[in-house]
Amino acid sequence: MHINKLLDKICSLNNVSVVGRTTLGTPIPMVSLGNKKDGGVLIVGAVHAREYITAYLLYELIQEYDGDYPVDVIPILNIDGAILSKEGLNELPLKVRERTTVLRLNDGSTDFSLWKANIRGVDINVNFPADWGKGKYNITHPAPANYIGPCPFSEWETVAVMDAINARDYALVIAYHSKGEEVYYGFGDNKYYKKEAQMLANHLGYKLKRTPHSTGGLKDYFTLTTGRLGLTVEVGKDSFLHPYPLTELQSLKKQHSGVIAQATEIADILWTQKYVL
Ligand SMILES: [Zn+2]
Repeated sequence: MHINKLLDKICSLNNVSVVGRTTLGTPIPMVSLGNKKDGGVLIVGAVHAREYITAYLLYELIQEYDGDYPVDVIPILNIDGAILSKEGLNELPLKVRERTTVLRLNDGSTDFSLWKANIRGVDINVNFPADWGKGKYNITHPAPANYIGPCPFSEWETVAVMDAINARDYALVIAYHSKGEEVYYGFGDNKYYKKEAQMLANHLGYKLKRTPHSTGGLKDYFTLTTGRLGLTVEVGKDSFLHPYPLTELQSLKKQHSGVIAQATEIADILWTQKYVL
């Protein structure tokens, strides 16, 4: 299924709003589940372009959730990048000069399958203000991956997530990435809520880990600014190459079944018993 078709399907679900627009102006949809009340879970997929399988997976998972607890899902954040990685340069409305720039960043190759960044060559998951620019793999010029951007929040996609986070008092934020079958938690010295993070890892059968070299990520930003639990979920086995094959979607769906409900349980525990707000 083409990404534009997936976007049409997402937008045809109930309770869809727009949290912002991509660099190329495409509306970024968010699906709101459950009844409105305090707390809540935010789940964001396809932060990295080549990890677009997470968008397809979240679209499937949204449809199985029937709980009351509020959950907002942005299945595909980096829409421009995902289209570039999956479907190529010709599927994007680029001016000649923009095409030339994107091709140059990709060393002249028209194979963009390993592209992670947005269409400007900024890696959204190092563009958040959480020790911005201090990550081990950060680079300071536009590229298919790891460029931190000219300043934090320089990208529309990053701003869209910030706006979503600011609009609601989320108890738990989860970013879906691929791959490695791991769940990351904590930021810097903050390693609170390990037990709750472990609950999600156990549900998936994934390993729980910390990310000592990660800065500027969505999980990092939420953890740093709120002191609450932010998680990164790395979907899928490392034995597959990037981009994770869409033929594995059904198997991932099986493995992730019930994960949204599990996330709401964790959020509820954190909100009512743990967080000092
Ligand atoms: Zn990623």
